[in-house]
Parts: sequence; C-alpha cells; structure tokens
Amino acid sequence: MEQKGRVIKSTGSWYEVETEKGPIRARLRGKFKQDDLKLTNPIAVGDFVLLAKEINQESAVISSILPRENYIIRKSTRKQNFSHILASNIDQAFLVVTLKQPRTSLGFIDRFIVSTESFRIPTTIVVNKMDLVKKEKDKEFLQDIHDIYEPLGYPVVEISALDDEGLQEVFLPKLSGKTTLLSGHSGVGKSSLLNKIIPSASQTTKEVSSFTSKGVHTTTFAEMFPLEGGGYLIDTPGIKEFGILDIDDQELSHYFVEMRKYLGQCKYNNCKHLNEPGCKVLEVLEEGYIHPYRYDSYVKILHEEDTFR
Ligand code: GDP
Ligand code: ZN
Repeated sequence: MEQKGRVIKSTGSWYEVETEKGPIRARLRGKFKQDDLKLTNPIAVGDFVLLAKEINQESAVISSILPRENYIIRKSTRKQNFSHILASNIDQAFLVVTLKQPRTSLGFIDRFIVSTESFRIPTTIVVNKMDLVKKEKDKEFLQDIHDIYEPLGYPVVEISALDDEGLQEVFLPKLSGKTTLLSGHSGVGKSSLLNKIIPSASQTTKEVSSFTSKGVHTTTFAEMFPLEGGGYLIDTPGIKEFGILDIDDQELSHYFVEMRKYLGQCKYNNCKHLNEPGCKVLEVLEEGYIHPYRYDSYVKILHEEDTFR
C-alpha cells in the first residue's frame, strides 16, 4: 500500500516527507531510476513521492517520484556535467533585494530573472529594509525598480522584516497556498524574514553542506517550511544564483520577456540583437519599448555567459 507525500527536507541520506498523516522519515532503497539529466541527487526538496512502509512501520521507503512540474538546478562543478537539483514543483520565486546595506544591483535582479524565466517560475521582487529608505536618491532607485519590473509582469513589494512593515498586508497573503522559493544575496534579510514567518525555522536555517572525500564543497541542501496558512517556503541557504543548463546565445533573449515577442521579426534568425541590420529588438529599443537598463543587462549576460553558468 503506497502513500503519497512531499519531500520537505533532504540530507542526502534520508528525507523528511510530509504526508496526510504527518511527517515521516524516508530513505531510498538501492538504485533509483533517473531521467536524462546527469544528477547528483535523485530526490529533491519539493518532490512528490510515493512511499512504501517498512515492515517495522517506523520509517518509509521512497518507491517512486511523481513527474516534476519544474525544478531549479545548480551545476555541481564547472567542469563536470553534473547538476544538483535544489528544489522542485515551485509556484513562484521571491527575490529579496535591498536598496542599502547592501544595495542590490539591477544586473543581479536581471540575472536572477533569466534563471527563473528559464525554469518557468513567476518572480516577485521583494524590497526589504524599507525602514532604511529615507533619502531622495534611494527613493528614486526604488521608483526605478517599480518602473522597470512591474510593466514586465514582475510585481514589486515593499517590506521591512525589522519593523514588520508590509508583512501581514502584502507579503504573507502572497505566500498562502503556494510553494515559494525565497532567494537573495546574503545580508538582505532572508533569515530575519524566515524567522518572522516561521519561528521554528531559527534552528534550522544554517547552511547544510557536505564534502566529498577530496574535501570539495559540493552540495547545499534546500529546505522547505510548511506555512501556517497553507503553502511552503523554500530556503536555499548560501545560494546566490542558480545555474542554467546550456543556455545558448539565441536562447538568452527568450528569457527577457520584453524581447521575446519581437524575436521572430529580426531579419536574421540567428540575430543576437547587438548590431545586426534589420534587428527588430534594436528598433524597438530605439523607440523606447525596451528599457535601456534591461538591454544593458542582456548584453552583459551574453558576454559573461561563462561566469553566469
Ligand atoms: P540574510 O543573510 O539574507 O539571511 O540576512 P539576515 O537576516 O541575516 O540579515 C542581515 C542583517 O540585516 C541583520 O543585521 C538584520 O538584523 C538586518 N535586517 C534584516 N531585515 C531588516 C530590515 O527590514 N531593516 C533593517 N534595517 N535591517 C534588517
Ligand atoms: Zn535582433
């Protein structure tokens, strides 16, 4: 008799699986069938799985994994072609940014969005530390973020984890019933936020890493926290950016939503939208339909592709 559950924690050797009857510890038995991707971990946080009970009834065995709606990966090493699934079945990503202490760059936001677009995960930009935003130049930067990202379909919400601004009114309602990936540079207040929302998270938000026999740092595990009002929050400790599997030059522009709709209209179908004649993207950029900041990011990412991957 099999039971359905969802993996909410993974240590690499055992998994915590949430089921209708509460959380249960499970492990994998023997070799587990993998799909085409070269993955270092067969099971990830967020996976829906089927469990078979062990004879002693105290722990369970994961007998199969249900198809993933989506997942985010990270390359384990640059040279080897192995990837590590960080989390799966994600409804939305929240990128936490700050205007000061530290100031998040627009380029970083754009790179993050390219990765979530490639994984088909809707993204919201969460501006934390609003209590620090007083000066005119910071308010202008905030307005730029609204002006650039909201028209593209990326909501921008303003909060302060320190004084609870925006948490009850805008932040929490957006999480309800959804599986949300929480991400952002270190120092932007992710742990503070997590601890406010899930008090029990405080003991567990430390980075969990493992080392290979050669002492190479390989893995950071994500953890998924059930929310009181339904839904889950996924924390990816220590992870700044996610990898993209083999994104090529042509593909990159597909992950810029404002470029996507013009892509079929360039004269050359291998157009990189840099200086080619008859480039529709350059034409609409000139006309002001694409924000120059975003176009700059596109060009930078195109040239920086190696460090980006
Ligand atoms: P993380 O690295 O993203 O997990 O960031 P932390 O939660 O550790 O926060 C980094 C620092 O920013 C800590 O000193 C926090 O107290 C502070 N911090 C977090 N949220 C806020 C906020 O809304 N306003 C202010 N002023 N400081 C904050
Ligand atoms: Zn073009």
